[in-house]
Amino acid sequence: MIYLDNHSTTRCDQRVVAAMLPWLSEHFGNPHSSHAGGVVAADAIALATDRIAGRLGVKAENVVYTSGATESNNLAIRGVCLHPRQKRRHIVTVATEHPAVLDVAHDIKRQGFTVTVVPVHPNGTEQAGSVDLDQLADAITDDTAIVSVMAANNEIGSLTPLAPIAELTHARGALLHSDATQAIGRLPLDVVASDVDLISASAHKFYGPKGAGFLIVGNGNRRVRLLPQIVGGGQQRGIRSGTLSPANIVGIDTAMQLCQDGGATERETIGKLRDQLWQILESGIDGLQINGPPLRSPHRLLGNLNVTLPGVEGETLMAAATDVAFSTGSACSNVDPAPSHVLMALGLDESAARRSVRFGIGRFNTDQDIQRSGEVLLAAFKRLIRLAR
Ligand code: PMP
Repeated sequence: MIYLDNHSTTRCDQRVVAAMLPWLSEHFGNPHSSHAGGVVAADAIALATDRIAGRLGVKAENVVYTSGATESNNLAIRGVCLHPRQKRRHIVTVATEHPAVLDVAHDIKRQGFTVTVVPVHPNGTEQAGSVDLDQLADAITDDTAIVSVMAANNEIGSLTPLAPIAELTHARGALLHSDATQAIGRLPLDVVASDVDLISASAHKFYGPKGAGFLIVGNGNRRVRLLPQIVGGGQQRGIRSGTLSPANIVGIDTAMQLCQDGGATERETIGKLRDQLWQILESGIDGLQINGPPLRSPHRLLGNLNVTLPGVEGETLMAAATDVAFSTGSACSNVDPAPSHVLMALGLDESAARRSVRFGIGRFNTDQDIQRSGEVLLAAFKRLIRLAR
C-alpha cells in the first residue's frame, strides 16, 4: 500500500519510537512519585517540556498534555466557556473547522451559549477555505467568550493567518483558540508572535505517537481561566488530571525536533511530490478541479491535494484503488457518510463534494510512490468511467 493519507495520521518515525522506548520499560516510574524512579521520569518530562515550549515561544507552564487535539479542543472551548467566572455567552468559530471544534461549540448551546459560524472564502479564490476577516470582525461581540479558528485545514490545506484574528478578538476582550493540529510540524508556528491564547495539537499528525497531544494555555499576555474537564489526581496543576506519559512526552519532543530539523527542505520536497501527483492526475483526467487555494499559494499546506473528479465518486475510486491510501472529504474518519462540510462551505454542491478526494503527502513518500499512485489512480478512474458508460 502506498500511503498518501498524511492528514489523517502519519507513521510514527522510527527515531521517535527509539526515543520513547526506554520510557516504556527501563524507566517505567510514575513521574508523579517522589522516589528515584519517579524523579527520573519527571526530569525527562521537564526537559522535554522546556524544549517543546521553547519551540513554540511559550513557557513550560503553558503546556498542558492531553490525549490529542480532540481533547485539547474540548478543554479549550468548554474550559473557557464553562468556567464559573465566565460571564460571556457567545462563541465564534468557522464553517470549515474540524468536528472536534464545531461539535463542541454546538454542544455548549445546551448551557445557554449562542454560536456564530463564520463563512470562508469560496473555491477558486486565492484564500479559498480561510475565514473571511470582515465577516469574522462583524461576528465578534462584547459577549464573545472565545473565538476558535484553525491554523491549517485538514481537508483542503488552507492556511489562516492568526495574528490579525488575534487583534480582532482581543479588541473585544475575547480569547483566541486555534486548532493547529495540521500546522504544528508542518509549518513554523510562533504562538506568541501571533498572540494566540490557546493552541491544540496531536502528535500523530507530525510523526509522533497516537493518543498524545497538548494544549498551549496562555502565553503571558492575557489570563486564561479554564474549567478542568478531567478531574482526579490534580496533575498538571489540576487543569488536566491523570498520570503523565514520559514516553509520549519524549515522543512529542523528538517528533517536533525532527520536523524542525527537516524544516524548509522537507516541506519543499513534500510540495514537489504533491505537485507531481497533481500533474499526473490532471494530465489523465479532463476537468479535474482543485479544491482550496491554488497549489503554490502561500495560503496552502504544501502536502495537501484535494480534487473533484468528473463523473466518479470519491468512495468509488477508493474502493477501486485500494493499493493507494487516500481519503474522501469528511474529517479524518469515515464514520460520517455525509458529504464534507468543508467542501460545502467552499461552495461545492453535494454531488461535487461526493466526487472529491484528498491526498496528504508526507515525510516518507518518494518519487516512486507518486508515479505508482498516479498510475493506479488513473487506471482505476478510467475503468470506472468505462463501466459508467
Ligand atoms: N483537528 C484537526 C484539524 C484534525 O485534523 C484532527 C485529526 N483529524 C483533529 C482535530 C483531531 O485529532 P485527534 O483525533 O488526534 O484528537
